[in-house]
Amino acid sequence: MPARAPGLRLGSLLGFEIRVDLSWFVIFFLVFWSLAEGVFPQQYAELDRLAHMAMGLAGTLLFFASLLVHELSHALVSRRKGIPVEGITLFIFGGMALTRREPDTAKDELLIAGVGPLASLVLAGLFDLLSRLGPTLGLGTPVVGVADYLAFINTALAVFNLMPGLPMDGGRVFRAIAWSVTGDRAKATRWAVTGGQAFGTVLMVIGGVQALTGAPLGGLWLVFIGWFLRSLAGSSLRQQALQSLLGHVVASDLMSSRPEVVSAHTSVAALVQDHFMQLRYGSYPVVDGEALLGMVTLEGVKRIPKDEWGARTAADAMTPLAACAVVAPDTPLEGAVEAMGRAGTGGRALVLQAGRLVGIISATDVTRWLRRVQELGPLVNPAD
Ligand SMILES: [Zn+2]
Repeated sequence: MPARAPGLRLGSLLGFEIRVDLSWFVIFFLVFWSLAEGVFPQQYAELDRLAHMAMGLAGTLLFFASLLVHELSHALVSRRKGIPVEGITLFIFGGMALTRREPDTAKDELLIAGVGPLASLVLAGLFDLLSRLGPTLGLGTPVVGVADYLAFINTALAVFNLMPGLPMDGGRVFRAIAWSVTGDRAKATRWAVTGGQAFGTVLMVIGGVQALTGAPLGGLWLVFIGWFLRSLAGSSLRQQALQSLLGHVVASDLMSSRPEVVSAHTSVAALVQDHFMQLRYGSYPVVDGEALLGMVTLEGVKRIPKDEWGARTAADAMTPLAACAVVAPDTPLEGAVEAMGRAGTGGRALVLQAGRLVGIISATDVTRWLRRVQELGPLVNPAD
């Protein structure tokens, strides 16, 4: 089910919702502090404290702007490839573009994953150019210093992200290549996850050695990042297992068949009394004879003032068919859930076969189905 994007909403950019996780404020302060108190005073001792603070603030803001450009590049290519993007969230280790589903082909995956580090490298090049041309252009030392730092940090971002383990971009690039070579996405994912876990372990070891040999803070930081990457890699594997299980589920597995329907001429009062108050369903397909006209939900009923319930009918309260989520019996789970989330019918979808109503799916049906699978184990052996 498409999860609500977490964090605090900052605004939207190019049609993407931009959010920050609360952990981001911690890292924002840490970056600012290390720049204003450490990096810049060391490199530019001739400047005063106020200049260092200003450089620190500009450097931090532009660092996060650079992260945002990196994530926007992923989001733009995803959207180009027909994969809806929920939004972008900045959090403690950078950012994340929340996509609704995985790419269909290895080539799409390669493009979506590869463009991020590429964007960081382009930014690094531009800031490097600025820092080199700065003196000629008459730019002051503070501006040149900040540009120099951004050239460095964007290069570091590109390199770090290119490490060949999930969930990093490099891991996705690696998976895309392995996927196109073997033709087996599940196997490629396992390789990329192993790569990610190995990379996390290496970071933890390096961090441990550093911590014991005179750089405790930087060392512990590396240990923490390594541990975090290992746990992320593990969760990508579980997600993959779930996906290969759910990949075989279609709408007809989930739906309630032969749903209870109501006539378009039923009054809203009768609808409430005989259906919503009596039966357990939260929505009813509305028919006129054989013809399916739409779906009526409790939300639809609530839009009609109570004193008009006797005079108005189900047809007045319903969501017309054109605005309902409609899926076919063989629509995969992912597509069905996406359709349910999109339509204005309270997360429900009608299942139609050759124009004939065969079932209805609600969020309850999906969770009930998942609970059954959890209790009974997979009912079919997934092919991969
Ligand atoms: Zn990236």
